[in-house]
Amino acid sequence: MKLRIGILALQGDFAAHARTLSGCGVETLEVRRVAQLEGLDGLIIPGGESTTLLNLMRDEPWFEALKRFHADGGALFGTCAGAILLSNEVVDRDQSSLGLIETSIERNAYGRQIDSFEAGLECPEAGADRSDPLKVVFIRAPRFRRVGARVDLLAHWEDDPVLVRQGRVLAATFHPEITGDDRLHRYFVEQVVAEAGGRLPQRTEVRVPITSAGSPTQTEAHATAVEPSRSTPQGENAPC
Ligand code: GLN
Repeated sequence: MKLRIGILALQGDFAAHARTLSGCGVETLEVRRVAQLEGLDGLIIPGGESTTLLNLMRDEPWFEALKRFHADGGALFGTCAGAILLSNEVVDRDQSSLGLIETSIERNAYGRQIDSFEAGLECPEAGADRSDPLKVVFIRAPRFRRVGARVDLLAHWEDDPVLVRQGRVLAATFHPEITGDDRLHRYFVEQVVAEAGGRLPQRTEVRVPITSAGSPTQTEAHATAVEPSRSTPQGENAPC
C-alpha cells in the first residue's frame, strides 16, 4: 500500500510540494480541513507566511489536531514558515508554535524577499554531497538560534544548521520544493515517514535514535553574515 502524504494547503507553496512529491511513489493529498489528517502517514507544512498561516488555522482546532497527529505516529516536514510553526519557540516574538521539535527559531533572519538566495547543501542523508549538492532556495528564511540535544543536524549553510530532525519531525529553514531536486522529499518519505511506520492500526512505533551532531547540549546557531553574492530566483511570485 502506498504511503499517504498530506500537504497543508491553507496558504503558501503547497502546490510545488505536491509536484515534487509526485515522483516519490506516494499518494498525496492537499489538506485544508482537520478531518483530512485522518489516515495520513505524513504531512508537509509548506513555506509561506507563518502569521498568515496561524490566522487561517483559527478556523478549526489545528494545533490540537496536529499535535495529536504527531502523537499518533504521523511524520511531519516543515519548510521555512512550516519550520517556524513546528519549533518550540519563536525568538523575540510572542508567536504561537506547535513545539514539536526542540528548536528556537528567528523569523526573517536573512533579510527581506530581495535578499533571497539559492544554495547548494551537502546532506549525506539525502544523498547530496559536495559534488552534487541539494539545490534549495532561502526566501525570507528563518534561522535556528538554538537546537536541543535530541535534534539531529542534517545540513548546514555556512555555520547555521538549516535542516534538522527530531524523530519523525523534519524541519528546513529553506524551500526544497522549487528547484526540481526531489532528494529531500524522498528522504522524508523513505526515511522519516517509513521509519515512523505509518499510521496503520497495528503499527509498532519505531523510535529513531537521536544524537546531536556536534552539540551535546544546547547550541547557539552562529549569527554569521550570509553570503553576499545571492541571486533572487523567485521574483514577484516568490512563494511566501
Ligand atoms: N518569513 C516567513 C515567516 O516568517 C517565512 C518565509 C517562507 O516561508 N518563505 O513566516
